[in-house]
Amino acid sequence: MTGTSSGGMAPDIERAARLMADARHVVALIGAGLSVESGIPPFRGPGGLWTRFGEPDMRGYQRMLADPRAWWQKQLSDPEPYRVELNEALEQARPNPGHYALAEMERLGVLRHIVTQNVDNLHWMAGSRSISEIHGNRTKLRCVACGLRYERARFPIDARRLPPECPECGGLVKGDGVMFGEPIPPDVLDTCQEQALLCDCMLLVGTSGVVYPAAALPGIARSRGAALVEVNPYDTELSPLCDVRLRGPSGDILPKVAEVVARLLPERSRSRQTPP
Ligand code: ZN
Repeated sequence: MTGTSSGGMAPDIERAARLMADARHVVALIGAGLSVESGIPPFRGPGGLWTRFGEPDMRGYQRMLADPRAWWQKQLSDPEPYRVELNEALEQARPNPGHYALAEMERLGVLRHIVTQNVDNLHWMAGSRSISEIHGNRTKLRCVACGLRYERARFPIDARRLPPECPECGGLVKGDGVMFGEPIPPDVLDTCQEQALLCDCMLLVGTSGVVYPAAALPGIARSRGAALVEVNPYDTELSPLCDVRLRGPSGDILPKVAEVVARLLPERSRSRQTPP
């Protein structure tokens, strides 16, 4: 087990950074833990929104499809209490040092892709660009029929003519966030699986490893020989699979990892340029 004091952790940070710097294709799988550090309440666990307000309808998507007009009216005029609290937190949330460290590692050419379970748009705000949002993005809307996405802020919604229709195909438009009972959009799911097969190192940040299909991705990567690095304050279902476990908040740990990665990179390019 990994030490928790920063002094005891330095060798593990070094090992994690080396695995990443030596890898050909690093992918990060991000869970709610990273967003919690930006002040967004988690859904599950102690103090989680669903622990306090109760789990939402497991057939929410099917109910929405059965009466999309009623669903939109409720969204606009009478949202559930958990959603009101969540939206307020999301409006105020800003990227934390963990988000910025991930964006920095992408700029360094080390981190090639982010698969995030978070809908909060904070990776984009921090400057990351190669992102799959497996549960959608709260700032977007999506057509259920053709899958096109629209910026919520620029999409005209007329409360007298609900539900809104897709300008491209006339299909039903809903929030991009994936609801209970709703399949993960196939374009996103395909990319996530491709990335899990492609990577030779996967970084697991703040994810508990219990929500599928995201929770399956580390196993896929592992079965193809990828190294796994976990950054999490707690032990998770995924911990036993991991080569390095860094215990602590990602906002503390990821900037340290990024710093060592940046130091190791010139070393790596020198060793690659050396003729055999
Ligand atoms: Zn459409």
